[in-house]
Amino acid sequence: MSHWKLKMAGRKLAAPTAVGAMAIGALGASAPAVHAQQAGAANTAPEREITNVTGELYRFRQIRHIGMFLVTPDGIIVVDPTNSALAGWLKDQLDERFGLPVRYVIYSHAHNDHASGGEVFADTATFIGHENMRKNLQRPPEDAPLLPREQLWDVNGDGLIQQDEIDIGMYSNNFARRDSDGNGGLNRAEIWAARFAGNQVPPDITYTNRATVRLGGKTVELHYTGRNHSDDMTVVLFPDERTIYTVDFLTPNRPPRTQLDGGYLPEWVESLRRVEALDFDIISPGHESPGTKAHVTEQREYLEELVAAVEAGIAAGRSKEELIEAILMEDYDHLIEYDYSRAGNVAGAYEILISSQ
Ligand SMILES: [Zn+2]
Repeated sequence: MSHWKLKMAGRKLAAPTAVGAMAIGALGASAPAVHAQQAGAANTAPEREITNVTGELYRFRQIRHIGMFLVTPDGIIVVDPTNSALAGWLKDQLDERFGLPVRYVIYSHAHNDHASGGEVFADTATFIGHENMRKNLQRPPEDAPLLPREQLWDVNGDGLIQQDEIDIGMYSNNFARRDSDGNGGLNRAEIWAARFAGNQVPPDITYTNRATVRLGGKTVELHYTGRNHSDDMTVVLFPDERTIYTVDFLTPNRPPRTQLDGGYLPEWVESLRRVEALDFDIISPGHESPGTKAHVTEQREYLEELVAAVEAGIAAGRSKEELIEAILMEDYDHLIEYDYSRAGNVAGAYEILISSQ
């Protein structure tokens, strides 16, 4: 074993089905559908569904994206409207089931696949998100310089990313669509658009470190735990329900997706440590199934070990390709999408760490 490859204590956590069985009462879904979703076979689950977490706290899902809502006597608090189709469906469901208006929409972060669709609630709701959402929703000028990591990709140094300079699916799939000006390369604004362009309603209220929303005798806390998958990420804590909602930077039983595009290392690890310090029992994620605090610890250990191994490899002068071969994270091969994301995680960590040196 090479010195940069850490020996890891193999500690596999039980699948989060215990939480699911204990706390997740299906409102519209059958148990087999929930299990199919856990296995990643979402095509056998209903396209959209609402499930109860505990008390008046619910998850709503479309395919693999999940938001939440909390019902109070004075109205409903929605977290992550996701997209217009799901938000429109949700509005009808809320009207039918509860007959109450949506008073607040809280955002986990600005990315277009979680924060879009809020316009259907705009007539009754106040929108809240982290202060960095405001700048993230501004399209950069077409001549904005590439970010440090993007400059690594720009092998020919022309300030644009050509198709053969990138192997991150978000950009390389549908490259022609991403290349909106059709000049054969992606500039900073076109790269930005892949994640941020959408129909997000900008937040009416932003916060810096922590915010509290009170409605109808219920309390919801917004916690900023630092930069991770993005620089505008909110952890939503429902204290009475002892539940947190986390998106993309923390998914129970699943590593971060592929090349950690747009992410921040090593701060991501510290961000997970701050989540571990919060007071909760259930973690209800924006993807996949609920889990427990033990899954937060597992995720932090995974990322901590990944970062340590990649940092050691960089210090030893190893290439990205060598590290992809060597850093196998085998003690985590039980995680969902391990085969899909492991090599990308190593490559992404390498690029983030080397471009921020
Ligand atoms: Zn995201």
